[in-house]
Amino acid sequence: MVQHHFLLVTFPAQGHINPTLQFAKRLLRTASHVTFATSFSAHRRMKNSTTPIGLAFVPFSDGYDDGFKPNDDPQHFMSELRRCGSETLTNIVHSLGHEGRPVTCLIYTFLLPWVADVASKLQIPSALLWIQPATVLGVYYYYFNGYGDVITSNINDPSYCFEFPGLPLLTSRELPSFFLPSNTHLFVLPTIEELFHKLDGEDKPTVLVNTFDALEFDALKVVDKLNLIGIGPLIPSAFLDRKDLSDKSFGGDLFHGSRDYMEWLNSKPESSVVYVSFGTMSVLSKPQMEEIGNGLLESCRPFLWVIRQPENGTQEKGETELNNIEELRREGMIVPWCSQVEVLSHPSVGCFVTHCGWNSTVESLVGGVPVVVFPQWSDQGTNAKLIEDVWKTGLRVRVNEGEEIVGGDEIKRCLETVMGGERGEEMKMNAMKWKDMAMEAVQEGGSSYMNLQKFVDEIGNGQT
Ligand code: UDP
Repeated sequence: MVQHHFLLVTFPAQGHINPTLQFAKRLLRTASHVTFATSFSAHRRMKNSTTPIGLAFVPFSDGYDDGFKPNDDPQHFMSELRRCGSETLTNIVHSLGHEGRPVTCLIYTFLLPWVADVASKLQIPSALLWIQPATVLGVYYYYFNGYGDVITSNINDPSYCFEFPGLPLLTSRELPSFFLPSNTHLFVLPTIEELFHKLDGEDKPTVLVNTFDALEFDALKVVDKLNLIGIGPLIPSAFLDRKDLSDKSFGGDLFHGSRDYMEWLNSKPESSVVYVSFGTMSVLSKPQMEEIGNGLLESCRPFLWVIRQPENGTQEKGETELNNIEELRREGMIVPWCSQVEVLSHPSVGCFVTHCGWNSTVESLVGGVPVVVFPQWSDQGTNAKLIEDVWKTGLRVRVNEGEEIVGGDEIKRCLETVMGGERGEEMKMNAMKWKDMAMEAVQEGGSSYMNLQKFVDEIGNGQT
């Protein structure tokens, strides 16, 4: 058998690192060598995590080796990442070759299109690991292929329904936030356009998607020119196929905290706890946090809420600033970080209040946990639509017209619906159904298992 050596290159953010690490572990099972590369600063922060056995790590420079600070310019960061990243990655591939471990394929996450250039200069095949749903990839593809004008002209009309063949009808709040005139992350759309442009040059290239066939069957087929294959969900084995019960975490946490919450969770009745987290990037205003707090207190259920500590120089609102913090601490558990996959698989968790990051979304499905959907930006509006209307595992919070903040009474209403009554029961049953299907997809012979195997074989035959 050909011994492959995959070099996985990931953008230095938690939402990119986690699925890529899990993908690395899956590749290791195919008897391949795998090396994981991310920036120096992310690499340093990951060091306290458990290292997956057999996985090699190499850091590359993104030009911000001391870490990106919130007041730094994202546009400048992206250009430095490209410049320094291309150079150091090329050197890494050369030295791995000199050490007798030549790289046979480069795999990269979606904000790193320049990795494809490094690969083609070095004459190594490469593939994109798409870490959002296939539906979102489809929307971007339509935007750059004939639907740009219709999106731009109607994005400000909240009642307009966008029809993209093969995808659910989407309103503007359900499209990626980068189409909005208020978008300040100006580098994202050109980066995605560049990705498509590079892929266009190849003959139906394979794109690896963190999803599975049953979950997004139609969306995986909407882009004729690309071979989108579901290889997910990329979740630690202990919670999914159970092939490795010691694989309980992704193994690359950038944030840290104690594990006191496990004992607290163990002490709670089945399906009673509300777990609240807005991921690693979103920053909620203080009044919004207080309203969430009020909703949790009024719903009279035990809750575990992740409120990240402010990092150096951030404007992040820490928990200590909240007016209702003392009551919140008395009634629930507030932590700066937790092992989310573990929490979502804990029997006492009955509901997840989530920002709908794609990893959190798939983790809720695999945990069989229904959700209160509270999207913030990026792909989260689209993910919210899929959760609420397609998979029917959650309920989206409503914002009153003319208001920006979701009130505590609305949070309470959503929790009551999701955690009680007929509708809540249905959501729970649907979540359990998707959990079973996710497990099926990654089992030997399942769709994601087979797709991955085929991809690895084709790399060996030079077919991607
Ligand atoms: N996460 C975690 N503990 C926390 C908060 C988040 O382990 O306290 C993980 C979560 O399991 C997920 C990732 O961080 O894998 C966040 O990715 P997601 O796509 O959900 O959101 P993002 O942070 O990219 O907005």
